[in-house]
Amino acid sequence: MIVFLNNNLIDVKQAAISPFDRGFLFADGVYESIRTYNGKLFRYEDHIDRLMRSLKEIKIDFEDFGSLQKIIYDLIKQNNIEVEALVYIQITRGTAIPRTHHFPTDKISPTLFISVKELIENRDEQENGVKVILQEDIRWLRCDIKSTSLLPVVLASQKAKEENAVEAILVRDGLITEGTHTNFFAVKDETVYTAPKSKMILEGITRKVVLEFCLKFKLDYREEFIEKDDLKSFTEFFITSTTKEITPVTTIDYWTINQGEPGKITKSLQTVFKKITEDY
Ligand code: PLP
Repeated sequence: MIVFLNNNLIDVKQAAISPFDRGFLFADGVYESIRTYNGKLFRYEDHIDRLMRSLKEIKIDFEDFGSLQKIIYDLIKQNNIEVEALVYIQITRGTAIPRTHHFPTDKISPTLFISVKELIENRDEQENGVKVILQEDIRWLRCDIKSTSLLPVVLASQKAKEENAVEAILVRDGLITEGTHTNFFAVKDETVYTAPKSKMILEGITRKVVLEFCLKFKLDYREEFIEKDDLKSFTEFFITSTTKEITPVTTIDYWTINQGEPGKITKSLQTVFKKITEDY
């Protein structure tokens, strides 16, 4: 595997980071995941805007965006990825000795790491739906930043895996925020609901695409928190992300929804999504 680390395309076996990198010591960094359709990076500008915003919010000075796209396409080529690629970009504040909690006083260069891998599509999940579990949202109060500090979601994801679920949906003070790495949607009376843009969720690019579809096809939608205790009043559920696209949710904990069948509106949104990504 060839990766990009600090201005070099190198074999992953040669890639090395200082133990004093603040990403390693403090998870002092942010990341992005982008995928391709037909070999072309999907909604690249949206992902880069979100990355820039995350960097700004944690005050990391990184401006070298001009060459990023070329580096990513070079990496895809060098790794001989023939079908679709999933790209991971991580930027940390950089390396500073000695370790201090506050930002280093001397100017340091951020560490930029990019890797790519072949994206394996999970058609079964998309067609038949998935099980999710509910877990308490114990993350910090800036979930709008795509921070590499992911321990709460690592633990919730592991719990989901142990329960044969594909995702843990997080609940804060009785309100559903989002999944560990997806946004959560519910449907009732032909209206689509999802948590509002706020510090409690990451504004997913796929979430944005789905809301654009709703506007375009005149499907009512509300950006409102769904109460955990009100879940049973909804008739369809789905999760969205770069890799999961629009995936129907057919089981929540021990509740099988709609006899395990993906919902009608979920399926129509999937059809539109498929069309735009096939033509991308
Ligand atoms: N919410 C969280 C917490 C995430 O980590 C992600 C993606 O990783 C998403 C939502 C979905 O975002 P996107 O659609 O941009 O992949």
